[in-house]
Amino acid sequence: EARVVLVSACLLGQACRYDGQSKGSDRVRQALEGKEVVPLCPETGAGLGTPRPAVVLRGGTGEAVLAGHAQAVERESGQDQTAAFRRGAELALEAARRFGATVALLKERSPSCGTQGTYVGEQLVQGRGVTAARLHAAGILTVSDEDL
Ligand code: SF4
Repeated sequence: EARVVLVSACLLGQACRYDGQSKGSDRVRQALEGKEVVPLCPETGAGLGTPRPAVVLRGGTGEAVLAGHAQAVERESGQDQTAAFRRGAELALEAARRFGATVALLKERSPSCGTQGTYVGEQLVQGRGVTAARLHAAGILTVSDEDL
């Protein structure tokens, strides 16, 4: 049983999503009862504003972005946000390490936080977002909010 859990901040009711919404739910609150919670939004943490243009991955999923073989780009304009996404992933890992989180509960299908699915171009594909990939590679168990 994990005592400290890193959590996508939008799942805790913070309005940090690209569309200015949050995704808080009773399910999440119940699952985290008795846990020490470390809220983190990698995208706003990396300096992206809210609301912000929607981002998709291009060329591969989170692992490929981290390896330098794929990018994170704004869906409409194509503007490259790869550096911010990589920075956000590092922030998440730093926070997990600082507070001793061994598990991360992450918002599904986000280009940062998705653990099972994320958008590559317009396609929802199997794979992790950039932050989920970074945490997973560092040995942190990543859990989807949809698996609660
Ligand atoms: Fe931030 Fe991740 Fe939630 Fe997107 S899914 S708003 S990056 S915490």
